[in-house]
Amino acid sequence: MTTLDELPIRDDLRGKRPYGAPQLDVPYALNTNENPYPPSEALVKAIGEAAAGVAGSLNRYPDRDAVALRADLAAFLDSDTPGLGLDVDRVWAANGSNEVLQQILQAFGGPGRTALGFEPSYSMHPIITGVSGTRWVNAARDDDFGVDPGAAAAAIAEHRPDVVFLTSPNNPTGTALDPAVLAAVLDAAPGMVVVDEAYAEFRRAGTPSALTLLDGHPRLIVTRTMSKAFAMAGTRLGYLAADPAVIEALLLVRLPYHLSAVTQAVARTALAHGAELLGTVDALRRERDGLVAWLRGEGLDVADSDANFVLFGRFPDRRRVWQGLLDRGVLIREVGPPAWLRVSVGTPEEMNAFRTALKETLS
Ligand code: PMP
Repeated sequence: MTTLDELPIRDDLRGKRPYGAPQLDVPYALNTNENPYPPSEALVKAIGEAAAGVAGSLNRYPDRDAVALRADLAAFLDSDTPGLGLDVDRVWAANGSNEVLQQILQAFGGPGRTALGFEPSYSMHPIITGVSGTRWVNAARDDDFGVDPGAAAAAIAEHRPDVVFLTSPNNPTGTALDPAVLAAVLDAAPGMVVVDEAYAEFRRAGTPSALTLLDGHPRLIVTRTMSKAFAMAGTRLGYLAADPAVIEALLLVRLPYHLSAVTQAVARTALAHGAELLGTVDALRRERDGLVAWLRGEGLDVADSDANFVLFGRFPDRRRVWQGLLDRGVLIREVGPPAWLRVSVGTPEEMNAFRTALKETLS
């Protein structure tokens, strides 16, 4: 038996643990910000037919550039944010937005280069950065989890990062990005600016998407995913919108045929049922707002949320609270600043179970 330590693994990977929330079989899984509503029977049937439609040609490689899927994604973004006028050469897709982010780092990061983000934020940003050999700089957030535009510009001027990460709404805090921060960052950044909008569809009315700034900002990249609002986490489909030159850069680093024919067919079918899938967003927003109000009513601190999850605290021993919930069949996420916990917004039934379990745990 060889142990990992005995292998000639890269020095910077030694002693590291794989990333990932525990995948436990529990009655109430509220830990990975999925959409709790499964596909309808009609969509399940359509997906089956779409998979069958490509099954007969699986001896062949898929469309390497996923052109039809990217055209559908561009059309979806156009309907989501009217007036964008996006087309296929400004949209790119990969296996989840994690792979999209990895390709961005492969193209624009690397040894001798720097990426900067504002923590607490999505913990895969520094991990993907590190794995690509890029140096990570954390420019911290304020106590209310916001980012100060002046401080952001100063951090960028100091570190001259090749890539800046912003997350809106931010994970794990739920905080929407102040447009003044994005403007300051776009102004100050010498390199690429990535706005990770994995949860954008859940944002409250009046919160703009960074997509509206793509024109005139050729170094801006907006990433999205079908894993969250779109209720397709199992499909593994993430995408981005950017200047055509950015897509050209990503073509240099992507593996050929990275998106399987099945993935492309399933994602296109889901997009064709987009209205149905996104039909749950309003209900989830209402459930989220109700949850925030309830937690505050219980005397807890709760971060404002534009996403489908809520960060709440503060607990001197958050592990005890997390475990108390798990003992009652409710799995949430021990993530973010110490003393805080994150719960994903589920169905009304799941939220009832969470509320009951939390009350019991805290009594
Ligand atoms: N960005 C953010 C902010 C996320 O929270 C997540 C998933 N938790 C991702 C990207 C990656 O999602 P996926 O790879 O499923 O698209």
